[in-house]
Amino acid sequence: MEQRICGKCTACCKTHAVYELDKPAGNWCAHCNIGQKCRIYKERPKSCQEFKCVWLMGNGGSKLCRPDKVEIVADYRNIPGLGTGIFFFEAVEGALNSEFTKKWTRRNLEIGNRVVHVSLVGNSKLYLPDGEENPDMVFRTESGEEVEIITFVSGKF
Ligand code: SF4
Ligand code: SF4
Repeated sequence: MEQRICGKCTACCKTHAVYELDKPAGNWCAHCNIGQKCRIYKERPKSCQEFKCVWLMGNGGSKLCRPDKVEIVADYRNIPGLGTGIFFFEAVEGALNSEFTKKWTRRNLEIGNRVVHVSLVGNSKLYLPDGEENPDMVFRTESGEEVEIITFVSGKF
């Protein structure tokens, strides 16, 4: 597998919450030199040290699809009561509507993965693969926002 590095990408410094810093998801970290680097890199919190997005792990498109370029940070997470899903976090408003996001959402649903779109401003959405029933539950994002649940019908995303 090709070796990938973050380089000048700082997208997850906006999309992801950092509990140690009390930094909420969807807001830039105060220590981020946006599009350059972390100003406290050597002393950055453990959760920052350990985080690897899907792209950094070698998936989610070519080297050109680095999260800051496609404005989406993808991450595998547990969906309470359902199991693992792939989460697409919007780094820039509107990126969830891009062709990139549509393509990778469709591709994941077709292979049976659950997909969550985490929006910066609107409602977040959980897409379930064809044949999977809507769960009898209310699913919430980290910030407590209720997530709309949508069942994917093959070929109709
Ligand atoms: S989004 Fe991925 S590639 Fe970008 S800084 Fe975070 S871990 Fe690195
Ligand atoms: S501490 Fe550094 S790596 Fe962690 S979110 Fe802030 S800028 Fe990013």
